Amino acid sequence: MNRTACAITGACCIRISLWTSIGRAVKRMRHSSLLLAALSAGLCQASLGQDYILEAPGSAPPAASVSGGATLFQNVRIFDGKSATLSAPSNVLVRGSTIERISASPITVDANSDVRVIAGNGRVLMPGLIDAHWHSFMAATAMPLLTTANPSYLHILATRQAEATLMRGFTTVRDLGGPVFGLKRAIDEGAIKGPRIYPSGAMISQTSGHGDFRFPFELPRATGGPLSQSETLGAAAIADSPDEVRVRAREQLRLGASQIKLMGGGGVSSQYNPIESTQFTEAEIHAAVEAAENWGTYVAVHAYTPRAIRQAVAAGVKCIEHGQLIDEPTAKLLAEKGIWWSLQPLTYDAEVFARMTPVSQRKAMEVFAGTENAYKLAKKYNVKTAFGTDILFNAGASARQGAYLAQMVRWYTPAEALKMATADNGELMALSGFINPYPGKLGVVEVGALADLLLVDGSPLENIRLVEDPDKNFLIIMKNGVIYKNTLRP
Ligand SMILES: [Zn+2]
Repeated sequence: MNRTACAITGACCIRISLWTSIGRAVKRMRHSSLLLAALSAGLCQASLGQDYILEAPGSAPPAASVSGGATLFQNVRIFDGKSATLSAPSNVLVRGSTIERISASPITVDANSDVRVIAGNGRVLMPGLIDAHWHSFMAATAMPLLTTANPSYLHILATRQAEATLMRGFTTVRDLGGPVFGLKRAIDEGAIKGPRIYPSGAMISQTSGHGDFRFPFELPRATGGPLSQSETLGAAAIADSPDEVRVRAREQLRLGASQIKLMGGGGVSSQYNPIESTQFTEAEIHAAVEAAENWGTYVAVHAYTPRAIRQAVAAGVKCIEHGQLIDEPTAKLLAEKGIWWSLQPLTYDAEVFARMTPVSQRKAMEVFAGTENAYKLAKKYNVKTAFGTDILFNAGASARQGAYLAQMVRWYTPAEALKMATADNGELMALSGFINPYPGKLGVVEVGALADLLLVDGSPLENIRLVEDPDKNFLIIMKNGVIYKNTLRP
């Protein structure tokens, strides 16, 4: 009975002798069942995260993390994630998961060593790309499927999309909502291929907020009533008081969120909230901020309007998502307070527009119109700006993830745009503090940084459109020192 109880909690590595002694102790006590339950839970907790011990005989436990051996890139010109110019011809030695050495003079390796040598022939080596606003679970899956399909089917689609994301050169994504904890784990363990994921877990939303995907017939819900499909999946969490927000935020942290995502105002894809609406109260948002900050991390809030942005900032939020409808004083406020602005180049895209409902199309036109002004203000006040795509429910647009980055030259030089998608975004990832799932420097090519690297056939600083066609132009894709694509091989 003891073993069954333990297995139910998810892990069973307690030695029988230990159980025997606990059993004797318990027998001596009254209220034994209560105590036993408490002990079972407490003891099993110690082994959570090691549930591969329960795997069927014959299947090898996955490695704790995947990193490569050693790789030497010879004769490459480096875009380091920060500089506006390429380096002189250089050599870069990667060992394990990090960059060990960068040198303009030759790096010699023993001919008998297992160092993989790559002749760069003057090509460009740059950091892997980072998408600061991505939805691994729902970028490429149509919205009606998300509310109706079998969850396992949806997770399989997300698995395929994760590999496609990595193959587009995006070695890291900050996931701003969706059930991706399992996906992240499987990627990190090397069971499947995909980018590093900074997960938020469920998007926390008020009733009728941007994350309330319920059908009208599911309302009203009594307190404690049944969860909807999107809540059960872990895509969204609906909360309507500071206490409920606190619980939902802590639940995401418990599941492994590296930051918390709240819906602070109206959105385009949701049907039941005006784009002008302000969502949650300052007290509700602040409850999530307290929960996140106690865990060393931060809250990111979806907000388009000055009112929604200002409320989030007042509540202690560290990153504003979108903000296309901002005004000048609010942009200035973000700069003064050092708040991150995670902005997306959302402009008219005929294919994306055609797939929207009339309600979403009206809202999208407002947001598209604001994009120009938003980037202008972000530049004018030098706000810390992150690059992200926020592609949703659209396989075609997901395949054009790199084209979103190339579009940034409407407002920035190629070097500025690429810096945003590498070194700057890397800095934003580190805002997750002591719960950062990938501690180490991301988005830069420098000694000691994590080895997420792209070998590009041409210079993206001269022609940023190279990132639009990763199949052709990214010859090598490396993440954590492991080569996932190499078309240079004979
Ligand atoms: Zn989003």
